[in-house]
Amino acid sequence: MSEAAPKAGQLTFVAPRRAKPQRHLADLTMAERRAAVAELGEKPFRADQLSRHYFSKLTASPEEMTDLPAASREKLSQLLPPLLTTVREITCDGGTTRKTLWKLFDGSLVESVMMRYPDRTTMCVSSQAGCGMNCPFCATGQAGLTRNMSTAEIVEQVVAGQRALAKGDLPGGPGRVNNIVFMGMGEPMANYKAVIGAVHRMVDPSPEGLGISARGVTVSTVGLVPAIEKLSNEGLPVTLAVSLHAPDDELRDTLVPINTRWKVAEVLAAAWDYAAKTKRRVSIEYALIKDINDQEWRADLLGKLLKGKLVHVNLIPLNPTPGSKWTASRPEDERAFVRRLEFHGVPVTVRDTRGSEIDGACGQLAAANP
Ligand code: SAH
Repeated sequence: MSEAAPKAGQLTFVAPRRAKPQRHLADLTMAERRAAVAELGEKPFRADQLSRHYFSKLTASPEEMTDLPAASREKLSQLLPPLLTTVREITCDGGTTRKTLWKLFDGSLVESVMMRYPDRTTMCVSSQAGCGMNCPFCATGQAGLTRNMSTAEIVEQVVAGQRALAKGDLPGGPGRVNNIVFMGMGEPMANYKAVIGAVHRMVDPSPEGLGISARGVTVSTVGLVPAIEKLSNEGLPVTLAVSLHAPDDELRDTLVPINTRWKVAEVLAAAWDYAAKTKRRVSIEYALIKDINDQEWRADLLGKLLKGKLVHVNLIPLNPTPGSKWTASRPEDERAFVRRLEFHGVPVTVRDTRGSEIDGACGQLAAANP
């Protein structure tokens, strides 16, 4: 037995290797970027130039940075390490919906989805590899949480999408990302700090960030109340989406297990407080599951809870996931559900299920490697 081997009964603790992705410009605030650039022996204003290359010209290649002295380019591009590698791209809807499977530096897999409509382009981004929330109807939840994504890893999904659109890779000619929804893999409010950093890089104007309107950014959550409260004080007027899926605790405890910690009433109270502070309409997400949560009496109960609030209900026909016995509601039940909500004066729309045939719709992102 070697000296280092543990003796019987002795507790050993092997710290898990927590390698982090390489430091990237998009992880840093402008002041931090200037400091990082200075550390590399460059003038701090180079941080602004580098930021413009990344966030406005959408490039990370030193050879394209012709306004920088050749000697500086290689040094500075250390702050733009590649973080995402494309594993696979699948498209549908005539190429206007595109799902990308990415590999992160440590082999973790995540997905993002781009959806181009006639009047706007939406990117659905992941905030964690996997998810720890364990909602039984969601494919992402089934595999559990692998790890949090870093701010730059989250932002890179958008920059990659923006780059593809700018180059005209999607039908419809060159374009820009207008909307970003944190509705890919993961629970954004469980990776709070990185997500807030990413929202800053998305909405802050050039050279700080991408300069996308905060109104175009939606953060979706199962209802982590303390995080919602914190978000309402960030001064970032993003849209808050709450994945409710049931108006009563008895059912919600099973559909969204974190409900056993924060109840429907607490989640909604936090949502109304968010609406009051930000003046933003809160989105309530409700996947309609046949014979589970689509009864008229539940629509009525939901209507009573939401009546008169600054709210909009998004009904999502359940997208099928592997191994689940649940399916979408019958069309007549869906219509009745909508009517009950409208009776209470609650604005409601039924969301289209773009991307379902490429498993790119809500709740279908599982990042299975081919
Ligand atoms: N964890 C966050 C972000 C994921 S968003 C959240 O839950 O809000 C993905 C959205 O799709 C959520 O509203 C989620 O509840 C919903 N969803 C998950 N699985 C689904 C499925 N199979 N069909 C339709 N919507 C689903």
